[in-house]
Amino acid sequence: MDRAVEYEAVIGLEVHAELETRSKMFCACPVVDVTQAEPNSAVCPVCAGMPGVLPVVNRRAVEYALRVALALECEIAPMSLFARKNYFYPDLPKGYQISQYDQPLARNGRLIISTPTGERAISIRRVHLEEDTGKLTHVHENGGSYSLLDLNRAGVPLLEIVSEPHLTSAEEVRAYAVALRSILRYVGANSGDMQKGVLRIEPNVSVRLRGDKELGVRTEIKNLNSFRALERAVAHEVARQIELLRRGEPVFQETRGWDEVREVTFTQRRKETEDDYRYFPEPDLPPLEISREWIEEVRRSLPELPYVKRQRFQREYALNTYEIDLLIEDRFVADFFEDVIRSAPQVSPHAVANWMIGEVFSLLNQTGVLLEESHLSPEGLAALLTMVQRQEINQSTAKNVLAEMFISGKSPEKIVSEQGLAQISDETVIQEWVEDVLQAYPREVAAYWEGKEGLRQWFFGQVMRAAQGKANPQVVHQVLQRQLEQRRKAKG
Ligand code: ADP
Ligand code: MG
Ligand code: ZN
Repeated sequence: MDRAVEYEAVIGLEVHAELETRSKMFCACPVVDVTQAEPNSAVCPVCAGMPGVLPVVNRRAVEYALRVALALECEIAPMSLFARKNYFYPDLPKGYQISQYDQPLARNGRLIISTPTGERAISIRRVHLEEDTGKLTHVHENGGSYSLLDLNRAGVPLLEIVSEPHLTSAEEVRAYAVALRSILRYVGANSGDMQKGVLRIEPNVSVRLRGDKELGVRTEIKNLNSFRALERAVAHEVARQIELLRRGEPVFQETRGWDEVREVTFTQRRKETEDDYRYFPEPDLPPLEISREWIEEVRRSLPELPYVKRQRFQREYALNTYEIDLLIEDRFVADFFEDVIRSAPQVSPHAVANWMIGEVFSLLNQTGVLLEESHLSPEGLAALLTMVQRQEINQSTAKNVLAEMFISGKSPEKIVSEQGLAQISDETVIQEWVEDVLQAYPREVAAYWEGKEGLRQWFFGQVMRAAQGKANPQVVHQVLQRQLEQRRKAKG
């Protein structure tokens, strides 16, 4: 029997997002880029876990947490509690992590995901605040080994977002991660930079016989630093568990890693049970109280969220889902797109979308810069597309001009006039190019008359080359057609 029919995957996600505050969760130390900063350069007695110090809650972190929780349509608890999660590990100098446990900041939300088969709402179980741990680097050299500890990350505000186990495939897991990252970035809470570790996604994966009510034994996969790794790791883990069950072997509850090279998950450690952490209320922090007014104020300050934007784009611009998903994932890109449309009323939204998704995105990919870092402005792109629309320049010239705008920030008008790129539509000029080409290739002309129709496109290419790409393609086609006919008649 087909294994996909026999078994089904059940997946829930725990996501840790560092909050983009200036200072840490419980002290005044700055939040620094741990991939860049000098190790242990942003540490004080509080985040280093010295005895006798007192934590103070960072209000900005709570506000970011509220923004995310409200964007996820959660119920906000008027009062939530911080707790100590005790465990001993060198990256945790206090010997416990301050987190929220049985009374989290927010519960019962949902996230709308967009999959090839349509939209789905995935339930969010809880959203809570905690602090990040330090960073350990294990070094093995000369037959010995030691570990380096960087506490710059210790105490950085961290938001944990936990879904219900309602996802059913690797594709859905990816769609969930994409949608959540997009929301985190829309509300300004997190940069979404998975390579830098500021957004960490941990899928819990189990499988069961299709139709079973009980959940199967789950594993949790750690250290996935891209959507691609996430999707592949989940697909592999689902297949691995199905294989075990089919052979009648047990799945162990454990934490697994992802081997990027061999593309397999592997055992890291057996999971601690909840009791091991001996949670108890944090005695140094008062309950976190959040007023109705504050909640409403934050709610009002939220931007239009991705799934609302998706529907509006469908209504207003009649684009397909694929195009819309690409345009709305990043708020800056979506705003840019709409600014171009406003500045170029003669150009169709569809043409703007095509230029953005095709040319602009590929320039971004090639150069590795973000749209907001590039020199391209919405007004600039609008001016360029208007010139194309008015046939002042042709498509291929426009692509070159765009690349130049991207680097120099010059206006398209300036680039076109400086480099003499304006499209030439003057028939007498084009006619000369056409005649030159036809005269230079008499054998090809003869072959064309004999029926090699395909040569017309080749002549076209030669004329464009003579024109250095600047000729109006439609006029070239017309003149070429006419000249070929005239010559045939003259000969015949
Ligand atoms: P923890 O991992 O900290 O013990 P939970 O038990 O609340 O926390 O579960 C964490 C995540 O695992 C949640 O996203 C939840 O949906 C998911 N999950 C729980 N049980 C299963 C299961 N049997 N299969 C798949 N996912 C599960
Ligand atoms: Mg877990
Ligand atoms: Zn500190």
